[in-house]
Amino acid sequence: MTSFLRRACLCVLAFSLYLSVSASGQSKQRRQSESDEPLLPTRLMVDATSAPEKILHATLQIPTGSGETTLVYPEWIPGEHGPTGPIVDLTGVEFFANGQRVTWRRDLKDMYMFHVTVPPGVKTLEARLDLVLPAPPQGFSSGASATARLDVISWNQLVLYVPGRNTKDIPFVASLKLPAGWHYGTALPVANEDNGQINFKQVSLTELVDSPVLAGRHFRRIPLTPEGPIQHFIDMAADSDAALEMPAETIDEYKHLIAETGALYGARHYRDYHFLLTLSDHVAHFGLEHHESSDDRVGERTLIDDDERWLAGGLLPHEMTHSWNGKYRRPKGLATPDYQQPMEGDLLWVYEGLTQYLGEILAARSGLWTKQQFLDEAAETAATLDHTPGRSWRPLQDTADAAQILYGAPAEFESWRRGVDYYPEGFLIWLEADTVIRQKTNGQKSMNDFCHLFHGGQSGPPMVVPYTFDDVVNTLNQVVPNDWRKFLRDRLDTYGPGAPLGGITNGGWKLIYDNNASKLTKDVEKTRHFVDARFSIGLALDDKGAIHDVIMNSIAWKAGIAPGMELMAVNGRRFTPDILREALEAGKGNGPNLDLLVVNGDFFKSVTLNYHDGEKYAHLVRDESKPDILSDIIKPAAGSKAANGN
Ligand SMILES: [Zn+2]
Repeated sequence: MTSFLRRACLCVLAFSLYLSVSASGQSKQRRQSESDEPLLPTRLMVDATSAPEKILHATLQIPTGSGETTLVYPEWIPGEHGPTGPIVDLTGVEFFANGQRVTWRRDLKDMYMFHVTVPPGVKTLEARLDLVLPAPPQGFSSGASATARLDVISWNQLVLYVPGRNTKDIPFVASLKLPAGWHYGTALPVANEDNGQINFKQVSLTELVDSPVLAGRHFRRIPLTPEGPIQHFIDMAADSDAALEMPAETIDEYKHLIAETGALYGARHYRDYHFLLTLSDHVAHFGLEHHESSDDRVGERTLIDDDERWLAGGLLPHEMTHSWNGKYRRPKGLATPDYQQPMEGDLLWVYEGLTQYLGEILAARSGLWTKQQFLDEAAETAATLDHTPGRSWRPLQDTADAAQILYGAPAEFESWRRGVDYYPEGFLIWLEADTVIRQKTNGQKSMNDFCHLFHGGQSGPPMVVPYTFDDVVNTLNQVVPNDWRKFLRDRLDTYGPGAPLGGITNGGWKLIYDNNASKLTKDVEKTRHFVDARFSIGLALDDKGAIHDVIMNSIAWKAGIAPGMELMAVNGRRFTPDILREALEAGKGNGPNLDLLVVNGDFFKSVTLNYHDGEKYAHLVRDESKPDILSDIIKPAAGSKAANGN
């Protein structure tokens, strides 16, 4: 998963309830659960014709049998690494048996669990439910998903199921009605279309949840590998036709991406692959991975605005990488048998951290990013993590262990709290591992070899091969013998003081700061309405002056400025981003001190910073005393003509 902010137990109870009820053997469903008999499929009909009005209707025919029955709503959502199933938006819940309404009661301790008594002789319980869709474009798949012109259907939000079986053994037959004139894309196999209703083939609940549908009035499909044998598509829905005009060279770059993934992994673990790309300013912006597709949501003008397009250039490579790293190979603690059992995120520095690394080098290898863009991203990552005082109390390992609470963490005090740092710091650690492999083998081997061993194997339909920390260490040792256990634990369990920059220095580059913002910094500041003074006076603020973070022990922090305050004036003049930047430069050397007026709630405060080092922005520059391994890493590997040198 990827968030666009630059910077989600009761399942033991659920399980024991299932066991105790199951032991009574009162219903066919539960007797089936005890045995290995295949279940009859649950039939799910979703009416999305009111998606523009922000409500979806679903009807389920669930083969429960009679008696005390428990039904659950998915809580722990794959790829979101937390209990993010939108239970609060599940409304209109009603149950019927032979057309008669059956009462239900929610479990008092598990908000995702419903108890129903199914009358004798009844074999199928009908459930009707509505999903009301939130309007604010925040969160992940439980965030805003529908506009007047499009909708993303996440099946986990529209199902109930009887717990106790692995969801891969619970069959579903789904159908979907869309608003008239809408088109759709999905990896879910279609049986037929009938009178405006899409009827899907029978799949497991696992496959259903793994196969969202993107639908919309303004829709375009771009085939990336029409020659096959495995098809790749970009299925796009937008709030306008104009937004679908992906430049021809960008299409070529995504074709390169497919070729580069083939070269990197050596096998594909999907039948076909669909990027489901939503272009709207009124949905949540993020990426969510699946085996055979990804749910990628960006702003409406992302493809047609040069700055937005390249800023989003890492998204699809990241999400597609998850098909291998996260879906096919999955940490044991994240490979849960259903959607109710809590996930363990301790290996997210592999699941997300390695994906961050591979996604970024794939963006560069395929030409979606130029070499300079890759370097600027790496500099930004390194500098941010090198200005993260929170590492003095929170080792990187804990950011993974606590993932389910950190995804929702506020921006305030981010550098002290630490966020989901296993993404960017995972980039640095895996970059360093790559350089170590290359150094130890004189360039004969690299992380490409690790990926072939770990993620390759036999091509075929989706499957999950769980792994442990030891499996990661052992595979690294297969590539080149080294004390990889110590290498990794040193970087996961220690307290700084600085970020792990060995990959950059081994790679023949140096992290430096000067007063010229990179194009990346400028574009992020412009498009995200952000002002980056973190590396100079320690302030991260928006372009209206709201202070999101103050780096602890920076000069601004020592002067008493804190997150949540607002910067009103700089050297006696009303704050604007340019006024602040110009004042920082004017104070250089023997220039004047920096006078800042801040407001803390209703109270104003004036502080003087004895600061004279000007603006500071991060860059990578060549260290000519060493070979340029970084440039080797991002060279195209598939023989494609990806732009890579400018
Ligand atoms: Zn991810």
